[in-house]
Amino acid sequence: MRKLIRCGKLFDGIHEEWQKDMDVLVDDRKIAMVGCHLPVPEGAEIMDLRHLTVTPGLIDAHVHGHILTWQEMDTVLFQSEGYNTLAYLHNAQRCLERGFTSIRVTGLGPLGFGAVDCRKLIDRGFFPGARMVVACHAFGCPGMPGDMSMHAAANPYLSDFMQPSFIGSGADFFANQVRREIKYGSDYIKTFISGSFLSPDGGPDVCYLSDTELRAIIETAHELGKPVTAHVYPGHVMRRLLAMGIDGMEHGALMDEETARLYEESGAYLVSTFAPFQDMIEENEEFIAQNTEDAQKKLRKYAPLLRRGREIICSSRIRLGFGSDFWAVHQPYESCYEYRCWRRSGMSALRTLRAATSVNAEILGIQDKVGTIEPGKLADLAGWSRDLEQDPDALFECSFVMKEGTVYPTGNIVKE
Ligand SMILES: [Zn+2]
Repeated sequence: MRKLIRCGKLFDGIHEEWQKDMDVLVDDRKIAMVGCHLPVPEGAEIMDLRHLTVTPGLIDAHVHGHILTWQEMDTVLFQSEGYNTLAYLHNAQRCLERGFTSIRVTGLGPLGFGAVDCRKLIDRGFFPGARMVVACHAFGCPGMPGDMSMHAAANPYLSDFMQPSFIGSGADFFANQVRREIKYGSDYIKTFISGSFLSPDGGPDVCYLSDTELRAIIETAHELGKPVTAHVYPGHVMRRLLAMGIDGMEHGALMDEETARLYEESGAYLVSTFAPFQDMIEENEEFIAQNTEDAQKKLRKYAPLLRRGREIICSSRIRLGFGSDFWAVHQPYESCYEYRCWRRSGMSALRTLRAATSVNAEILGIQDKVGTIEPGKLADLAGWSRDLEQDPDALFECSFVMKEGTVYPTGNIVKE
């Protein structure tokens, strides 16, 4: 069945411009033609979206879909694999309804192989949902983010008992862990490397893994043909990883000028996840007071460096991907808040949208299929009634979503 879609404005994911009077011809699952005032082929259905701005189906490159609501994050150790898997499905469905047709799952928590089943069942069409690219676990070593047993560290017997199998030390452990992740279905490797702001660890400036361990992860993954990304904050750790040939990183929130220049030259990507840091950057006292004493100290100490890091990232030419990283402040599918942060940080609408479409498609390794509106790509499209250029909250209302030529219902976000 052919569909001719008449667009209001169009952003095709390639050109940093809004195109007017464009039509997109969809033939079954794929885009057949894109052009100005296309003739209507015989028997084609006309879809009039002239009241909307049309973009490629958006992509969120940092989603923690293993929880149903962020408010239940503290109970994640006590959930079943089934519950965890259904949470992935729930979040993939909510993402699709909000115009995000693909997501990259960045594993977190003790469970996670169920994400592979979700990915398969969505791909086979048993359930509607955003296409998933999956890292089942974010692994690391004892006492760092990802090791949830550290919350019981006052009782070492209990803590050791609770320590997940993907937490360990030594090059052999990490090489083995990379092989296990890939064996059980992960599409890429995600690892924790530096500490963090909110967990009871050594802090965001600390690098937990040795060079030998880092090399074991990157080399093993690359031998098996899979890319590697890492949770990292400080410049000195990013520089080490760039020198080792890592494919990309997540956060990079303590970016400095020297690292930014090296980053630009390397061509590696950065999924910068702005929104989770917004309360820290703005030193929102209400938010800071909700945390432990240890976290409050870290948040106050690092706020100026976070502000500076944000400025450096935004004014750099680093290959930025768009990812929301919501498990502590918003629901995993509320990617619209990340758009708001990019816009309020001075990023143009077109650069933000390019990050969330063609750049992210490359980061996910699905650029041959999606991320742009051009003939031969799968027909993943989203339509927006609010002004993407002027309105930082434009993604709160999705008015149209198509994945692989099929139109799905949309769902909007109640603004907090
Ligand atoms: Zn994350």
